Amino acid sequence: MFSKILIANRGEIAIRVIRACKEMGIRTVAVYSEADRNSLHVRLADEAICVGGAKAEQSYLNIPAIISAAEITDVDGIHPGYGFLSQNAHFAEICESCNITFIGPSAQAIRLMGDKLAAKDLMRKAGIPIIPGSMTAIRSKEEALKTARRIQYPVIVKAAGGGGGRGMRVCHNDVRLISALMTCQAEAQASFGNSDVFVEKYLQEPRHIEFQILADRFGHTMHLGERDCTIQRRHQKLIEEAPSPAVDPKLRRKMGELAVRAAKAAAYTSVGTVEFLLDKSGLFYFIEMNTRIQVEHPVTEMVTGIDLIKEQIRVGAGESLTLKQDEVRLEGAAIECRINAEDPTNGFSPCPGLITMYHEPGGRGVRVDSYVFAGYDVPPHYDSLLAKVITVGPTRQDAIRVMQRALEEFLIEPIRTTIPLHQQIMSDPTFWRGQITTDYLDRQFQLGEGND
Ligand code: ADP
Repeated sequence: MFSKILIANRGEIAIRVIRACKEMGIRTVAVYSEADRNSLHVRLADEAICVGGAKAEQSYLNIPAIISAAEITDVDGIHPGYGFLSQNAHFAEICESCNITFIGPSAQAIRLMGDKLAAKDLMRKAGIPIIPGSMTAIRSKEEALKTARRIQYPVIVKAAGGGGGRGMRVCHNDVRLISALMTCQAEAQASFGNSDVFVEKYLQEPRHIEFQILADRFGHTMHLGERDCTIQRRHQKLIEEAPSPAVDPKLRRKMGELAVRAAKAAAYTSVGTVEFLLDKSGLFYFIEMNTRIQVEHPVTEMVTGIDLIKEQIRVGAGESLTLKQDEVRLEGAAIECRINAEDPTNGFSPCPGLITMYHEPGGRGVRVDSYVFAGYDVPPHYDSLLAKVITVGPTRQDAIRVMQRALEEFLIEPIRTTIPLHQQIMSDPTFWRGQITTDYLDRQFQLGEGND
């Protein structure tokens, strides 16, 4: 087992990892940027080192500075959290070459799944259903138009190296497709350093269903059930739940088996997520695999009773899984609302700033993963997630009721947050019935900037 872990991240996930380490008797090292001197992860870790300026490129993405911090503090493992360097194969390789364990999958698996086209190709060969579309990067307008004619509009142009809901455009006709092709290529090059884009069929009103994978280095691969992440704004998740109201035991078994097959095809180790879109007729298709712990992991923890970060650390240390697939029990229902410093009434524009009043909800059935406190000045440099409220109950309805009262208790002032929007959703009959699709928010609340 590790004796000391450096957490190459900030915010709530850095604290989540520090908490798990403390419970496992592992010492922790926080790294922080100049803008994060007063951040909570810095205070909670056993040691803390400043790795650079406020901009992520200067600090949380600064590989030489992070590796130096790891060497100075003599850690034997680095936990990357999510975002930042968590899906950077080069960083994973550098950690290993410095004799520090990267707590995640192999660099090879990260690289393979980081390219959505390569991932789709691998899945097709493994017999996993994929969405019809181009199987190689689109090189010309003619190629894009030919693909669209074959699969029929609407189509979606996607960056092969994309993530976080960025680098995607939905198109309904030839003119839009041509312009989307050029903007996506330029955006993909600027944001992901890879201009490869592809075209696939845009599924109408699907649900986003993903499976949590847990795999060790001895070939044991299992799934911990699904999360339903259908409530999104601009292809970014806002609310997640487990189990999905749209998945029955039979479908869970089928999708779970294919998710495990997908992970095995990628020789995957560590925690990871296989994402699918489920259409109205019950057909489902692989969209991508995320090679890291995800923001929404707590809902799985709450219905399985499994601590995913501890499991990730254990398999990262080379231990084998003790749990077997048929021992996984899903109990009750869990929902997570992402509380972001954003104004939902103004296109989800970021609202950083000083928080003068902060009171978290508590009581039975409520878990809050956050890093915020009264007097904290939310910096404008990073993503806007302030807190995750996770509620549980014997049934989905119970979990929603707990969420309603938890959101009512949650006070974050004076900055704007997504709390009022979550409150609206939690009292919407369509949401109560679980009849949601990925366009639910735009349709029901006329939010976001609809893609065309
Ligand atoms: P990212 O890596 O940026 O998160 P994903 O490929 O995981 O991108 O897709 C994110 C979301 O975009 C999905 O949950 C879904 O809402 C939407 N999406 C992606 N591909 C399609 C598609 N072919 N048809 C319909 N919606 C899609």
